[in-house]
Amino acid sequence: MIEHIRGHEKFAGAHIIVLSSGPTPEHRERAKKLAVAAYLTKPFRQSALFDAISDAMHTGDKFDKPKAKAKVVDPADFTEKLNVLLAEDNPVNQQTATIMLQKLGHEVTVANNGVEALEQATLGDYDLVFMDIQMPEMDGLTATRKVREKEAETGKHVPIVAMTAHTMKGDQERCLEAGMDDYISKPIRRKEVAKVIARVAEKLMMSNETPEAETGGGDVLDHEALMEELDDDFEMLETMLEIYTRDSAERMPKIRDAIAAGDAETVMAEAHALKGGSGTFFATAAFETANKLEAMGRENELADAQSTFVVLEADVEKLKATVKQILESE
Ligand code: MN
Repeated sequence: MIEHIRGHEKFAGAHIIVLSSGPTPEHRERAKKLAVAAYLTKPFRQSALFDAISDAMHTGDKFDKPKAKAKVVDPADFTEKLNVLLAEDNPVNQQTATIMLQKLGHEVTVANNGVEALEQATLGDYDLVFMDIQMPEMDGLTATRKVREKEAETGKHVPIVAMTAHTMKGDQERCLEAGMDDYISKPIRRKEVAKVIARVAEKLMMSNETPEAETGGGDVLDHEALMEELDDDFEMLETMLEIYTRDSAERMPKIRDAIAAGDAETVMAEAHALKGGSGTFFATAAFETANKLEAMGRENELADAQSTFVVLEADVEKLKATVKQILESE
């Protein structure tokens, strides 16, 4: 079959992936001679197929030298006045955090315990919540879970940043699992507060951007290169999007958990796989961000991994939205 395909000029440049249920050394040797891109043995996982497609289509150097600069969150870029809810039971901490936030130009409302926090966060119109973990009446994790439960009905999502007194890695994981968006450790420092606000704000701005506003920017992916590579095969693109959506939905939580657990090796491996998948779509932004995260994992330097992960989340969402748009415009 492959010999036939190779003989046909229409398919001269085709990438061929062999799916074999019973590979023999002889088979593999023949496949190799015919320059197949990959050789998968059935049953194979969807992610293995995706990696194979990704490797097959990956045009190497095109992505090795990124053109655009990767996005860096700069607190100074964020000057918008926010309506902040501060959930904190300790009066001293209430006072210092309030002054700090006000100095950064934000409006502050204080909730004295978890119950008040839950009430305010669901009823009030806040841009951001800083949530202490240990509070009387109801702890911060429970309050956050309940906020997210209520939001499931309304479709809203107020960003919640944990203020944790512990530097235990498992704590950060628990915060994210409870539905918090980010965290800072106590005692909170002004610079860290400014940083976390910029991080959360960037995530918000990105998820609020409509895909329409992004087309033509050329930043999300190279539309032209993608469709040329796919020979305008929209069906193939649709399949790729389906696989990518599932694959990234599996990998992103793994990366998030690995960052929280300080597991650099997993961060590296999962970010690498996501990089490959994103590269398949000629998706510059997602590719570069994943690449950055992969490097952090490789160098076991995870200090900025969380903020890079937040950017990657937004990049992946944009990628999917843009591909969806291409498919709809067909
Ligand atoms: Mn407390």
